[in-house]
This record gives sequence, structure tokens and C-alpha cells, in this order.
Amino acid sequence: MSLERPPRLFIPGPVEVEPEILQAGAQPMIGHRDEEFLELAAPVHDMLKKVFRTEDPVCIATSSATGVMEAAVRNCVRERVLCCVNGAFSERWHEICTSNGLAADRLDVEWGKAVRPEAVKRALAEKRYDAVTLVHNETSTGVMSPLAEIAAVVKSTPEVLLLVDAVTSFAVVPIETAKLRIDVLLAGSQKGLALPPGLAVFSVSKPALERAKQVKNRGTYGDFIAIVKGQAKNQTPNTPAVSLIYALARRLRGILADEAGWYREHQARADLTRKWAREHFAIFPEAGFESVSLTCVKNTRGISVEGLNRFLRDHGMLISNGYGDLKEKTFRIGHMGANPVAIHKELLDLIAEFARA
Ligand SMILES: *Cc1c(COP(=O)(O)O)cnc(C)c1O
Repeated sequence: MSLERPPRLFIPGPVEVEPEILQAGAQPMIGHRDEEFLELAAPVHDMLKKVFRTEDPVCIATSSATGVMEAAVRNCVRERVLCCVNGAFSERWHEICTSNGLAADRLDVEWGKAVRPEAVKRALAEKRYDAVTLVHNETSTGVMSPLAEIAAVVKSTPEVLLLVDAVTSFAVVPIETAKLRIDVLLAGSQKGLALPPGLAVFSVSKPALERAKQVKNRGTYGDFIAIVKGQAKNQTPNTPAVSLIYALARRLRGILADEAGWYREHQARADLTRKWAREHFAIFPEAGFESVSLTCVKNTRGISVEGLNRFLRDHGMLISNGYGDLKEKTFRIGHMGANPVAIHKELLDLIAEFARA
């Protein structure tokens, strides 16, 4: 295993980062209360709003995405929250709610299936909720739930805030944060944004901010009111991961230079992988809700996924085994980031070769 570099990542996060983006982070350090930081943060905040497609403030947190999942429910839930649970990450959001002492009801959906707007509608009719948590793209199963339809249901119920984990869908598919009236949309740096881990970005709507004012124990590090106040001045309440923000600036400029092209590449890698998966194996998630971010392949040939990854490693590549109980029963190929389609195709050819042997 004496590779010149670690294997190229085709796992659904962390995602492969191009050398020029890594380089962009290697800048001389600046003071986060000095003008150099304001010059860095101001355009980043503007670009984030463009990619989020909203005029709401979009904030930068020095934390992994889980930190903002926790902050979102601490700021937006007074008492009761409805958690849509259809995989490991949505399960985690439910656990975060209960560990923070919130009354959290589950809307359980079988793993591999999408959350349905009708089911959300029925649940919202039964009880009064402060908010709904939804994981747009379940990274554990490769399912992308119908966000626009679910948002329409949630936002037609007064007082209910919609909190969306878009960790593996943001910057993978366009998300209309404002049009869908999403109250909090959150993403982490190492997934769709294809940056090193360590940052999260999130939008906060006016109703979400109003709600935060009514919640007493919002905590300190994740206090939306303090963070949004800072954002308005291109500041963060605490010391941010400045190096990562340099890399974020570079990434956002790249995306906005050809946004349609950036999304098209993701769709191309997804289409290629799905077609390949149907030819050689099968696709795990229910038809019609396959993720653009990753393909969760059903291991219909009973290959050793662990063995496959050892073989791929020798060729300088890496994919992911299935998540939890789905280990060896499925494997996951990520399409996030900027892996060229030609190299992606090489990966698929290698997996086919391994499966034939
Ligand atoms: C990875 C992931 C998370 C957690 O992100 P961290 O950065 O590890 O905190 C949350 N939700 C989804 C959908 C993910 O894929």
C-alpha cells in the first residue's frame, strides 16, 4: 500500500478534493476581526446566498454538519418536533432531538424508501408541531426524498418550521431554498461542497429567527441569533476555520462560474452509475427516488465488498460498503465532487472486472 497518494475517493463523503482547492486553503493566516477577514467573508456570504437561492442570511459554522443539526432543533423547537426517519442520518436527527430533551415523534419509513408528502400531511394533522426535520438525501440508503412536495405540505401548516439536512444534496442538485420556504437548510463542507471536513453552512429564515427568540435555552455555540447577527457584519461569534473559508471561497467561485455545468456533471456521473448498476447488479432504493449524490448498489452477485475495496485500493480508488445492517448487502458509489466522468467510468470498469473474476 505504498501509493504516492491516498486512494481517490468515490465514497459518499468525505469527497475527493482537487489540489487547487486544497491549495486555496494554504494562505497566510489573518485575524478574524481584521479587515482581511471581512474581505474574505463578504463575497463568500454573497456567493452562498446565490447557491442557496435565497435572500435569507446564509451562515458559516466551524463545526461538522451534526453540530448544525443540533443547533437547528435547539433554536427552532420549543417543545415538539416531527422527525422523518428513513435511514441512519435521519435517525441521528431524531436522537439529537431526544438527547436535547425535546418531544420528538417519528415518522418512520422503511430504509430504501422515500419520505412521502401524504404521510407528512397526515402526521401534521394529528398533533401540533413546532418543526419537521427532513434529511433530503439519505446517504445511508441512496434515497432522495421529494423535497418540493414535502415542503409544500409543511409550509401549508401554520407555525411549523421546515428544517432540512441537505448535507449530501446541497451543491449536487439545485435547491430553491426561498421558493420552497425552507426555514433552515444545512450542509457540511466534506460532502456536496467537496471541501475538506470542518465547516457547515446553513440558511436561517425570518420565521426561524423569530422562533429562536422564543426559545430560552438555545445554547451558546449554536445560538442562531448571535450567529445571524455576526453574519450581517461578515463576522462569526467565535474563531472560524479561516483556511477552510479560503477553500470555500474558491469552490463557490468555481460553481458559480458555470452552475449549470456543475450540476450537469453530477447528473452525468449519476446516470452513468445507475445504468451500470442495473446492468451488473441492481439498485437498492425504490425506483424514482434514486439519489443524484450516490448510488446504493444492491449486491445481487454476493461479491465480497470488503474484497472489492481491497482490489480497488490497489488501483488507487475507494468506494463505501453498505451502511450498518446493509453492509455487504449493498455498496455505495459517490458521485459528489469533481471526479472526471472518464475516471468515474474507469472505477465502474474495475468493479465489473472484480465481479466477473
Ligand atoms: C455525513 C452526513 C451527516 C453528518 O455530517 P458530519 O459532517 O459528519 O457531522 C448528516 N447528514 C447526512 C445526510 C450526511 O450524509
